[in-house]
Amino acid sequence: MIIGPWLTLSMLAASSGGVIFAQENVAGATLDIEIQQPMQREKADEIIEWLRNTAMLVNQTYGRFPNPAPRIIIIPSTNRRGDSDKAVVFGRVTRQGRETIELFVNADRPIEEFYSDWTATHEFSHLMLPLLSQRHRWISEGFASYYQNVLMSRAGRYTPEDAWQRLGEGFARGEESRPELTLNEASARGIREARMKVYWSGAAIALLADIELRRRSDGDESLDSVLGELQACCLPSRRSWSGSRLFKTLDSFLDEPVFMPLYRQYANTKGFPDMKPVLRDLGVRLGSYNAVLDDRQPLSAIRRSIE
Ligand SMILES: [Zn+2]
Repeated sequence: MIIGPWLTLSMLAASSGGVIFAQENVAGATLDIEIQQPMQREKADEIIEWLRNTAMLVNQTYGRFPNPAPRIIIIPSTNRRGDSDKAVVFGRVTRQGRETIELFVNADRPIEEFYSDWTATHEFSHLMLPLLSQRHRWISEGFASYYQNVLMSRAGRYTPEDAWQRLGEGFARGEESRPELTLNEASARGIREARMKVYWSGAAIALLADIELRRRSDGDESLDSVLGELQACCLPSRRSWSGSRLFKTLDSFLDEPVFMPLYRQYANTKGFPDMKPVLRDLGVRLGSYNAVLDDRQPLSAIRRSIE
């Protein structure tokens, strides 16, 4: 956990009709938290602290939370088949009106398991982009999947070796998923038909953009800094964006475009970006559990600046 001087904290917790309400101020944003019942008061307090800590992970990208006043609803749930032993069973962002993150949690699990679970980091990361059209959902799911690993590593919740292993395994799963479809086609078909392609192709594009931004600016620019500019100009946004509108907007912050060239190369192309040479140049060799990291490869310094 990293707490900087920019952080101000205040907590107001109240209980109404069994529901616990809390407001957490984190780096200028106010998280409106609602914890539904049944939930022990002690566990609710632990979960509020975990949410605050997770919001701070996202703040580290560009120094503030992407939405100054998001709503977060915690729903105790142990009935979902198959996943009932996970701390965070399911999460989603809804954007009718106010941006809201819903997290279905298993309150019986120890709080340590919440900190090692990626779901909340993934959902919070979604707020760094506006709502995207169905056809371009690979961008929103992909960027959130990239950041869930990068931010968990930066916070020390994952080791860098673990984070790169997860990214590399994700790229391999994405490559195997529906190779006959383009990224836009896979997203248009829906998550159920091409989940791994939708999630991991966009994560691959996020990594490619991040590498290029850092490489050519000698570290002055990054995906973090460009998304910070997007937030300053355009977020939170009430409308649905197309992928090309988003990528053109991101390029408008740069002297030379990075995002639209990637869009033109990959969005309507079958298959999956070839990430094997990229991982090799970053100094990432996948293992059985953790990646082996090599600091002598051409992009090793960039890898260390990301992780
Ligand atoms: Zn998602």
